[in-house]
Amino acid sequence: MFLEIFVRSLIVLMFVSGSVVISYFSTRTLALLVPNPIISNLFLGTGTLILSAAVILGVSYFYVYHGFGAQADIVRKNPAVGNKVVLTFDDGPSKSFTPHILKILAEKKTPATFFMVGSQVEKYPKIARQVVDEGHEVGNHTFGHITVPHSPPPQLASQIMKTNLVIFQHTGKYPPYIRPPRGLYDMRLRRLAKIMGQELILWSLSSQDWHPRAQGNSIAKRLLDQVSPGDILLFHDSGSLLKTEGSNRQPTIEALPPLIDGLREKGFEIISLEEFLS
Ligand SMILES: [Zn+2]
Repeated sequence: MFLEIFVRSLIVLMFVSGSVVISYFSTRTLALLVPNPIISNLFLGTGTLILSAAVILGVSYFYVYHGFGAQADIVRKNPAVGNKVVLTFDDGPSKSFTPHILKILAEKKTPATFFMVGSQVEKYPKIARQVVDEGHEVGNHTFGHITVPHSPPPQLASQIMKTNLVIFQHTGKYPPYIRPPRGLYDMRLRRLAKIMGQELILWSLSSQDWHPRAQGNSIAKRLLDQVSPGDILLFHDSGSLLKTEGSNRQPTIEALPPLIDGLREKGFEIISLEEFLS
């Protein structure tokens, strides 16, 4: 187990230091053209910092939205379904926000999938049950919102199995899907999903409702501008940057009615994940 953590840390370290070294040498060539040594050094320092941050973020973005190599087992988008999209909500259930979201979905007769955190299901079992009773689908989002690639094998397996169990106990439904927190997965999770009979579902369009300055109208407008056939849209009905809950999801609630109406006006149908995958 320690060897595996060591190897993983080494890979991350090599990736980060490699990005910094490449950025340093790329910036240095340009810095040599600046005649003033103080400005040249300043350019070298900030240039390296900005470029390496861009490389690291760019590679991470590519990994989450596209992955590396063939990944037929990971679902992000399905343009073959035509003008249809799926709504998904992560990190719940939440006492403060999930019931409001359910009310809007019921009023608008819109199906959705909720990727639940096991510890939140234990905390709010009635709301988890309500999600299923109102016809929505559920997925596994780990028990404690862990970072999958960093977790030791026994912990990873128990996080997935425990969450499947609590969701089944409290809702009567076995979750057919898994979505790893932050979209960070690895081969172990892919194998585990296969063994547990679950599909790995990511997303193709994020509402970015986690942003501290997110507002309902701007979330809906940006999504309506960017949406394309077969998108899986990502929202959050709970969660927080550092804990498993605590963030304000009011902007998510405010974004939903104009988004759902806007999607229908644009000719998009909002379908269940089950229909989307079939
Ligand atoms: Zn999450």
